[in-house]
Parts: sequence; C-alpha cells; structure tokens
Amino acid sequence: MVEFVEIKAKSILQKQKFRDNWFWNRYNLNPYRGCQFACNYCDAITEKYLVHESYKDFSRIIYIKKNAPEVLEKEVEKLKPDVVAMSGVTDPYQPAEKKYELTRKILEILAEHGFPVHIITKSDLVLRDIDLLREIARQTWCTVSLTIITFDNELLPYLEPFAPSPKRRLETVEKLNEEGIQAGVDFTPVVPYLLDGPENIEEVIKRASGSAEYILIGAAMTLRSNQRIRFFELLKKNFPALVEKYENLYEKQETPPQDYIVRLNGLAFAFCKNYGIKNYIPPPSFERTRRENFDVANHLLLIAFFKEFKSANPYSAWAYHKASQTIENLNESITGICKRKALEKLPGVEKTISRVIAEFLSNAKSERLEKEMNTW
Ligand code: SF4
Repeated sequence: MVEFVEIKAKSILQKQKFRDNWFWNRYNLNPYRGCQFACNYCDAITEKYLVHESYKDFSRIIYIKKNAPEVLEKEVEKLKPDVVAMSGVTDPYQPAEKKYELTRKILEILAEHGFPVHIITKSDLVLRDIDLLREIARQTWCTVSLTIITFDNELLPYLEPFAPSPKRRLETVEKLNEEGIQAGVDFTPVVPYLLDGPENIEEVIKRASGSAEYILIGAAMTLRSNQRIRFFELLKKNFPALVEKYENLYEKQETPPQDYIVRLNGLAFAFCKNYGIKNYIPPPSFERTRRENFDVANHLLLIAFFKEFKSANPYSAWAYHKASQTIENLNESITGICKRKALEKLPGVEKTISRVIAEFLSNAKSERLEKEMNTW
C-alpha cells in the first residue's frame, strides 16, 4: 500500500555547476521524493539522493512537495531562464501526479517565465500536459525523453514492475512528435547480461527510429550503496547464475569497466547510423542575451559528448567543457572577439578549439563535430 506524505520544500530548483551535455539542463527539479514505478535498477535509492529512512520505502512512501509551485514562483523571479530537467531522482508523471498535479502547476510557472524544459519520464501521463509543452516549445525549447530499455515482456516485471508498457511509451513519443514537441527515447540503463546483447540493443534502436527524434544510450549502469544491495537481491532471487558475472564485471567499481562501455557504445553507434536516428539530443537554441555565445558553447559541449561517448572517459573532453563554460559566461560577444583574432586569449581556449569556434561562427557547423558524429 503506497503512503503519500505531504511535506514543505524550502527550495525547489537546484542549479548545477555545469550544463549537462546529455540532457542540456542547468537546473534540476523534483516535485516528489520516492517513485511508485519501483524500477529495480533505480539509482535514486542511493544514499546520495535518499530522503527516506530506508531504501525499502522508496516506492512505498511518496513525499509530496505540496508547496513546490509557491516556492518556485519566488525562485524564478530572481533567475535567468535556463533548461530545467524534470526529474533527476523521481518520475514527474508517476501515479501521484494524477492526484496532486504538481508537475502541471510547475510547468505553468516555467512557461509563464520563459524557462525551457526537458522532461524525462516512463509515463504516457505526460500527454495530459501537451498544451503547456507546446507553449514552452513555441517560446523557448522543450524536449521529452521516454525511457525504454527493452520490449522483452518476460524481463520487464523484474526490472520495471509498475511502469507503463514500453509500447505505450513509444506511442507517447510518436504522439509528442506529431504535436510538434521534440521527443526521443532514453535507453538507460543497458542492464548487463540481461539487456546488453546485440538483439536487444538493435530492437530498441530500430523501434525507436520509427517514432523518436533521438535515442540516448546509457551503457554505464551504476551499482552503488543501496542500489547495489537491491540489485544483487534481485539477481540472487531470480537470476542466480548472473551473480558471479556481476561480481566479476563490477569488482569494486560502481560502473562496468571502460572497455565494456566502449564496446556497447560502439555497437549502439553503428545501429543508430544504420537506422538513421541521432544518438544525441540536438543542443537547445533560444532567444537570450548573447545567443551566439550560447550556441558556440553548446557546439563545444556536443563535441565533448561524442568524445566521452567514444572513450567512456568522463575527463576525455575536459578542455571542451572548460572552453564552453568560459564562452557561455562571457559578457562580450564571441563574434567580436573572433573578429579581433583574440579567441586564444580566453581562458581554456587553445588553438584547436579556437579554430572550431571560428569555423562554427562562419558556417554554423565544424569539421570537428561532423567527424565526431559520423565516424567511430
Ligand atoms: S521511473 Fe525512474 S525514478 Fe522512478 S523508480 Fe524507475 S528509475 Fe527510479
């Protein structure tokens, strides 16, 4: 029996230090704590995120931030609009949303104040808010990612026991795109030994390619603290033959080794090429002060995304992240700096990156990104 507990939030928008180059958000917003979908791989039950006394209550007690709209109303007055991701550690369209409508009220406020939005969900309830999402897309930028990790009906009850069916999620993606709202598939996580075979990877990518604008592949399933305990409980009970394999794959790490991730990313990259679907979300672009700086910064972040995807090394593109942040924070137009041939004087902008910037400013694209996107 699920218990709903109403709580008062002191703050609601969490600002990240850096822009995320998968989801493009700068803010995170979670209207609920806990999630009724109860996915057995969920990393929101790690101690890092948990507000429940025990991780076992994560899907049994749902905390409702009843005053979230009032708190948000005050916060947005003081902030510059930027991409808000809903939600990092809960599903914004879990069943509680039908009753409490917090996500809807929040979207109304974000729309009114010109904030772009990225929704990540497993629920077709998102279709209820098409009017607001369309309005946000018209004003600034909006994307919706529906998580789909498999269509295997025998495995789903073990992995995502209470979430809507992947078929319904894919139909939701299709409907959103038909309505002019960019929507794609978030194929995260690729669960080792259960879902990492080429047949499953190809099936998800192939079926997504018929309806989705993009598919994100998350091959680095984490296993840490409570998440690790819960997942091993699942394995021991239902897939005992996999326990040792997992122990060997993860050893003392929280993610599988780099070569495992690179191999799966390479496979997914090839299937995406074959089925003609992007394996990334195109960067947001919307009216804002010094928009060209924002576009250049995002172009660099997309190059970083590909470098990281191909190497499975989060530090492989640090220079691109650093340069991107410098440019986004500039008080002067990047075009003017480029005309003065002073790009390399900017902190973190070295020769190769300055060439990419100059090329992007004159052609709205760069050879570097084309190469990263098109070749493995
Ligand atoms: S839908 Fe997301 S937040 Fe909810 S249990 Fe599943 S993985 Fe966790």
